[in-house]
Amino acid sequence: MQRTRVGNVEVVSLLDFTYTFKPEGVYPGAADQVAAYPHYLDTDGQVLMPCNSFLLRADGRTVLVDTGMGPESDGQLMTELSEAGVRPDEVDQVIFTHLHGDHTGWNLDRASGQPLFPRARYLVPRGDWDHYRGREPAGRSFVRDVAPLETLGCMDLVEGDHTLTPSLVTLHTPGHTPGHLSVLVESAGERACILGDVMLTPIDIEHPEWTSPFDGDHAVAEATRRAMLDRLATERSLVGAAHLPAPGFGRIVRVEARHSWRAGVE
Ligand SMILES: [Zn+2]
Repeated sequence: MQRTRVGNVEVVSLLDFTYTFKPEGVYPGAADQVAAYPHYLDTDGQVLMPCNSFLLRADGRTVLVDTGMGPESDGQLMTELSEAGVRPDEVDQVIFTHLHGDHTGWNLDRASGQPLFPRARYLVPRGDWDHYRGREPAGRSFVRDVAPLETLGCMDLVEGDHTLTPSLVTLHTPGHTPGHLSVLVESAGERACILGDVMLTPIDIEHPEWTSPFDGDHAVAEATRRAMLDRLATERSLVGAAHLPAPGFGRIVRVEARHSWRAGVE
């Protein structure tokens, strides 16, 4: 758990779980070059990918971005939230950057089937809802974590530039999934971006052209990644990224034509 401020908005990173993947599983076309990034690998040379959620307190509202892997993976999101001093019933909105199962795991209480955030509206990207709802066979996490939100009457579909609060607005950042959203924070002259899976590792920032099987549409994902790298470097935004090294805070730095990741909140 790490807390920072962006203008008048409080931004808290909450770590649920950490994956490891073989380099060839993340970058099949460039696996032999991954060893050049030892600080993002574990001692066996596997790529480390944490699952960070972000809590935003803005304009009197409490917004949770993504709900992690869930209890089956021994996820720690609810413990982290408690350590941040936030009760589940204080959350007004849960918003998903996208509907992959590592971002929706703590939506519902497994025993009762009821929402774990009982007062919250759950905001679902319309492009992902349309994409995953029609799948045959339906995805396991979609059936378990997402579809029931509609029946429970706590779900709203959102797309494009959707205003969450005066300081928080969504931005369509497709490619990883069709409806993928990022959340832009702007307050008192400061900016941040909760980026979801636009960049999966810091290596993506140096090599936006390396394709990963995790991205649904490689060409669109690369175009979005390049556009966001330019924008975030130009705006000097703080970035909060789901799978970059915990707590997932940092900035995009541009030197000549190349971008790189500078971890931290400064
Ligand atoms: Zn993810």
